[in-house]
Amino acid sequence: MSSAVKASLQSQLSSRKFSNAQFSNVLSGFQLSRLAEASQKQRSWLDIQKGELLAPVLVPRQIGSPGYRAAQGLIVDTLGKLGYAISWDNFTASTPAGNVKMANIIATRNPSAAKRLVLSAHYESKVMTDGDFVGATDSAVPVALMLDVARGLADKIDQLTSRDLSLQLIFFDGEEAYHEWTATDSIYGARHLADIWEKGPDSATVAALGGTAQHVPELQRVELMVLLDLIGASTTAFVALELPTADLFIQLGKLEKRLHSAGHISRTYMNMTVQPGSNNIADDHIPFVQRDIPVMHLISVPFPEVWHTLDDNAKALDPRVIADMSIILRSFVARDKADPQELEPLSEEKSEADIADDDVSDNSNNNDDAILAGDGPDHQEASNFPGTGRAVLSDIDWST
Ligand SMILES: [Zn+2]
Repeated sequence: MSSAVKASLQSQLSSRKFSNAQFSNVLSGFQLSRLAEASQKQRSWLDIQKGELLAPVLVPRQIGSPGYRAAQGLIVDTLGKLGYAISWDNFTASTPAGNVKMANIIATRNPSAAKRLVLSAHYESKVMTDGDFVGATDSAVPVALMLDVARGLADKIDQLTSRDLSLQLIFFDGEEAYHEWTATDSIYGARHLADIWEKGPDSATVAALGGTAQHVPELQRVELMVLLDLIGASTTAFVALELPTADLFIQLGKLEKRLHSAGHISRTYMNMTVQPGSNNIADDHIPFVQRDIPVMHLISVPFPEVWHTLDDNAKALDPRVIADMSIILRSFVARDKADPQELEPLSEEKSEADIADDDVSDNSNNNDDAILAGDGPDHQEASNFPGTGRAVLSDIDWST
């Protein structure tokens, strides 16, 4: 990493931080229980065989195919019914397979809000020469989880928007390369959207604010982009890949420890022992990071064993992981919509007590301290990944 890059990362770290960064204690243990119970009651939505938010996208979704159209329909129907403003970013991409019509789908709850918390994933599946590739982890499950968050939190989201931070879901098209992954044969949708959002507002924002309103480029409204990818296999695990959001990742790790200690999730997923900042996985976040948007990249590291094989289908999925991720993501998005009537006043000491009540082990704090002490940009990517025995970060082909 060059010193110029280090300086740039440092300035991002200090100048552009997601609000409410210390969010792991915001929700009380009672509130986390309520969120977890709701997710458990709604678990059928994400059933691998029949789940209404997952099964329809567990099919090959190559651009233009019936499965691709079905995914578009599911996204638009589900979020339209929930009152999200839907906008389409239609464009024609020049690919090694010729000109291809692609479409990013953006769903925004209350587009007149000043800022957006973005959840994102790509919805198309890769073209493979040896058969119909489903891409269950890549990225059917992330798409289904985004829909699950929106529907599961439907009655709470407007409390979020009342704080002028709205939820926005981006479903990218054309993430996958047609041939070899290169800068020009990959992330077609993300590159297109970042480009037009750098110049102007999203059409849903214009519709909400009116044509005469002062419009800022949509990117200026993005407070944080969470990019989900390669999620759902039993080995799902994450590390802090983006230095400017390493503190958020640590908070998310603390939040999931509370969920785990309270028995709401089967295990934890945030690997807090790997130094943050190995900022080199090519994915849809790249054009946004290049434009200084803070990104938390939740992609499984190591990649699932089935990655970019025909085995990345329903059989590769672990329902416990999907159920856990539903609870974790709902809790993350809900973290600052807490209903004051349900929330006891939180002082610093009270926050610690709340954690203690949830029986979080001291080990977690030790791990956090290790990361916090070493989260400077001098730390290069980790050389191993404790607990898996197989992943060496530098050995992985990072194209997704
Ligand atoms: Zn892929």
